[in-house]
Amino acid sequence: MIAEVIIDSRAKKLNRKFDYKIPEELEDIIEIGSRVLVPFANFKKLEEGYVIKIKEKTEYEVKEIAKLSENLSKERIELARWMARKYFCNVSECVRLMLTPGTKNNEKVISDKKMNFVYLNLKKEDIDIASLRGEKQKKAMQFILKNEGYTIPEIMNLADVSRDTVNSLIKKGYIKIEEQKVERNPLALKQKNENRKLELTEEQQIVFDRVSETIDNEKFEEFLLYGVTGSGKTEVYMQLIEKVINKGKTAIMLVPEISLTPQMIERFIGRFGKGELAVLHSKLSKGERHDEWIKIREGRAKIVIGARSAIFAPLENIGIIIIDEEHDSSYKSESTPRYNAKEIAIKIAKESRSVLLLGSATPDINTFFRANNNEITLLRLTTRANKSSLPNVEVVDLKMELATGNKSMLSKSLYGKMERNLKDKRQTILFLNRRGYSTFIMCRECGYTVKCPNCSISLTYHSFENKLKCHYCSYEEKVVNICPNCKSDKIRYFGTGTQKLEKEVKKIFPSASTIRMDVDTVTKKNSYEEILNKFKNENIDILIGTQMVVKGHHFPNVTLVGVIAADSSLNIDDFRANERTFQILTQVAGRAGRENLEGNVVIQTYNPDNFSIEFAKKQNYDLFYRTEIELRKQLKYPPFCDIIVVGFSGMDEKEIVKLSTFVYNMLKTNLEKYEINVFNPMPAPIDKIQNKFRWRIIAKGNVTEEVVIIINKCLQNVYDLNEFKNTNLYVDVNPNNMM
Ligand code: ADP
Ligand code: ZN
Ligand code: ZN
Repeated sequence: MIAEVIIDSRAKKLNRKFDYKIPEELEDIIEIGSRVLVPFANFKKLEEGYVIKIKEKTEYEVKEIAKLSENLSKERIELARWMARKYFCNVSECVRLMLTPGTKNNEKVISDKKMNFVYLNLKKEDIDIASLRGEKQKKAMQFILKNEGYTIPEIMNLADVSRDTVNSLIKKGYIKIEEQKVERNPLALKQKNENRKLELTEEQQIVFDRVSETIDNEKFEEFLLYGVTGSGKTEVYMQLIEKVINKGKTAIMLVPEISLTPQMIERFIGRFGKGELAVLHSKLSKGERHDEWIKIREGRAKIVIGARSAIFAPLENIGIIIIDEEHDSSYKSESTPRYNAKEIAIKIAKESRSVLLLGSATPDINTFFRANNNEITLLRLTTRANKSSLPNVEVVDLKMELATGNKSMLSKSLYGKMERNLKDKRQTILFLNRRGYSTFIMCRECGYTVKCPNCSISLTYHSFENKLKCHYCSYEEKVVNICPNCKSDKIRYFGTGTQKLEKEVKKIFPSASTIRMDVDTVTKKNSYEEILNKFKNENIDILIGTQMVVKGHHFPNVTLVGVIAADSSLNIDDFRANERTFQILTQVAGRAGRENLEGNVVIQTYNPDNFSIEFAKKQNYDLFYRTEIELRKQLKYPPFCDIIVVGFSGMDEKEIVKLSTFVYNMLKTNLEKYEINVFNPMPAPIDKIQNKFRWRIIAKGNVTEEVVIIINKCLQNVYDLNEFKNTNLYVDVNPNNMM
């Protein structure tokens, strides 16, 4: 028998099938999806590859497969091939997402974790404790007789004996040591605090029943659960998962990386226990990820909670896939393979005839559009589950503040509410829209700004170290006081950073305690959690933060949220600027007054009339959606068309220009008849990162199956030329980041 094998390589030229003979002894074992080692070209080392087809014969003279290392399911290989076409990359790059983490070329990079356990070496009746010398040895022996399978440190601890005592028992042949594999379990240290099932509210019950029906019918159906912040979506998820588990099936829940907090995981442990739960996220060690994967593959875990790539977890018999905060941009990968987990979820749910449930308080415009077109079943939760009311939102016009002489970062209204909150011992969150919302340096004389020499991006001022830093490549330099361009000394700092805000708040409220959360303070492994816990447990008065404070946290004592400048996300160069602004303002407002206390939100802005701010004030998604979808229609943006970005990067700008012109002509000729509008190659808005030039071609239109085939053909033409070796080329459809 002959196997068609794909070699594990990023090289575009190798994204094709090679025939290999299947050795006789492996004929019954190797199947589609097998991960194998094969001799390739004249390489000394064996190469890793994946079997994608098995056939009777080949017309070529072929080598033999050397070894088998892992079997993936046939469906997974099909999925990888589908992804490679859809996301314009190599099949092997997609297969990698589906392999056990920490294994490569049949060698386990991550080895099993082993520990020594103590067992009896003689029959119980042959052990004569009285004959042992010394009280310590007797004590240790007595303990081990009753407790086999403990480690030496545990015995030392529990029986209160020394290592020497245990060692002498080993020497005498009474006990022996056995090395055994232990599982690295990221949940091991977590406590189980019973999280009782709540009686569903009427609204929750309607949602639950509707989804249940489909689960019982074992059909594919996609749902959008659109529920205001705090409406009890998570409770509905948990009860649906319970239902699926009781039917003997399994469940995946995806959440944005940042909301995979210990509190969230504890909620699930409290409900389902640790045994059947697996978590997958970036803070796990490689070993933990490996062991969690095995736990899933062996069918011991029935519920998987994880960030984007957990959609590839090797779960079988899936009954429900839940994607929480479905509007979150992290579900789309921005590096190869540039997949969208929501699209993968649809594919998997269809094949497993299971339910796909998307949940959000501010659904993605595309998702809501599909719901309005009856492609998705829309379910609503309109009130907060614990009867707390949504906060009062006030919008403050910063132009008016300036006109009345208030130059502070806090408007009079926000100042007044903060003062009252401090008196009442309630907590406040101050939110600075946009990461960094950085302070940059500009010369008032000539307009010169200090940019990163590698990335053509303004450097950000960090007052603590008194340095200028690049957020892309971490280049840094000393602060300048004289303009390098015109030699004037009129160099000034612009913009508002979290540091500057914290300084100002401390000046205005000297007795208030503050804590800051941004890219600079969140660095260590758990620091993000530490900051939030500290804020909550020590009842710190004011939390100052960027985007990170927005996601699903529950702080009972927070009654005031201040948005310092809502505008910055409106000015980003992206067609989703309004959507992002509305989402972030609604989510951040949802942090205020989540229990019985009344919540207040103050949004400061220079654009009080902008509709995304106006509707965020009303916390009315429907109104926002109706306005935004009209705009998208008029301007021809998604969901009314797709945006294709063809990106080029490399050190050799001449080659980039040549290649992008070549690709442009090819796309233009071939895509015109599909009504795809291809625009001229241009430098990207950020035209250089780490000394690599960045160019791109943008095309607008509907990316149908045919269009995908044509783009793949064009790319293949480029790879076959074998000419443009110094340029990296990628295609991304509807990317998050247009910079
Ligand atoms: P969401 O996921 O929509 O933000 P949560 O599931 O976190 O909402 O619920 C918000 C709060 O309401 C939580 O404190 C939760 O315990 C509570 N809650 C949810 N469902 C119910 C219910 N049926 N009865 C009482 N309280 C509920
Ligand atoms: Zn100058
Ligand atoms: Zn840089």
